[in-house]
Amino acid sequence: MTVGFIGLGNMGFPMARRLADAGNDLVVYDTRSEILDAATTFGATAASSPRDVADRADTVLASLPSLQASTEVATGVLGGTRIRRFVDLSTVGSTVAQHNRQQLAAHDIAALDAPVSGGVGGAANGTLAIMVSGPREAFDTVAPLLEALGRPIFVSAEPGAAQTMKLLNNLMAAATLAATAEVMVTGVKAGLDPQVILDVLNAGSGATHASRDKFPRAVLPRTFDFGFATGLMVKDIRLYLQEARAMELPTGVADAVARLWETTVEREGPESDFTSVVKPVEDAAGVIIGGPGPSATDRAL
Ligand code: NAD
Repeated sequence: MTVGFIGLGNMGFPMARRLADAGNDLVVYDTRSEILDAATTFGATAASSPRDVADRADTVLASLPSLQASTEVATGVLGGTRIRRFVDLSTVGSTVAQHNRQQLAAHDIAALDAPVSGGVGGAANGTLAIMVSGPREAFDTVAPLLEALGRPIFVSAEPGAAQTMKLLNNLMAAATLAATAEVMVTGVKAGLDPQVILDVLNAGSGATHASRDKFPRAVLPRTFDFGFATGLMVKDIRLYLQEARAMELPTGVADAVARLWETTVEREGPESDFTSVVKPVEDAAGVIIGGPGPSATDRAL
């Protein structure tokens, strides 16, 4: 089966590779020509535009970094001679998903919003959680394809419902990472060893994905290379707030979380890794968590 894939970034590239490894003929497109060349190493054919992909594949998947790119690509595939299904794996919020769905439906293209969770590691290992909304029939058709990427979960037939689900998930991820950053800084400032703090959190009720995975892998070694850009996390928090406010719901916790992330994107830049959220907290406290050397308490500034 020929499958189209548009957007070969941190997430898209490993996902496309898995689809190729599962035996699909892949036609790929990205605005960066160097990444298109790299995709030919796993057997993908480079296309010249989203429309070119849509002329060659029945099912086109996309993993894009912004609302604008997602709408551009959804518009770009309209009129493709082969395309029957468009599966957007990007996080774009329910309004954009509904808008894209309308455009695609007018051209008899079934649209599924299918945002993912599980990070670059999940994309490489095929262990993503894939939240899907849209026509059930289209979901049933693409489910075997999505199984090469992780676990597809049908959220609802309602357009945009999976996007809302994804925003709930990412607000949780943003909040726990921000909270972990604050407690780690507090602990180190109080003289505790950061590795011991993580060990205790992870053995107790304070354990989160941030303490189990993000801090040990990207903060303590000071690599800040977990693979998700701060700008993308801020996009998702803003989308969450937009949707919650549109429903006139309380956002006290989300507002506090958003403040730290807005400071981080301003100071560290949108391309920084999202684990950089600890840096403004460290600066305010005058400590650095982890890094080479004997113990963090020795390095308290
Ligand atoms: P990324 O910036 O690494 O990759 C995006 C890719 O899209 C790039 O290769 C870029 O060149 C390409 N692109 C941009 N505009 C394009 C266009 N108009 N046409 C074709 N290609 C275009 O982003 P990412 O981290 O891979 O994230 C992709 C999506 O997945 C985002 O919506 C993000 O929120 C979501 N997501 C990311 C992660 C993660 O851990 N990185 C986890 C879950 C969900």
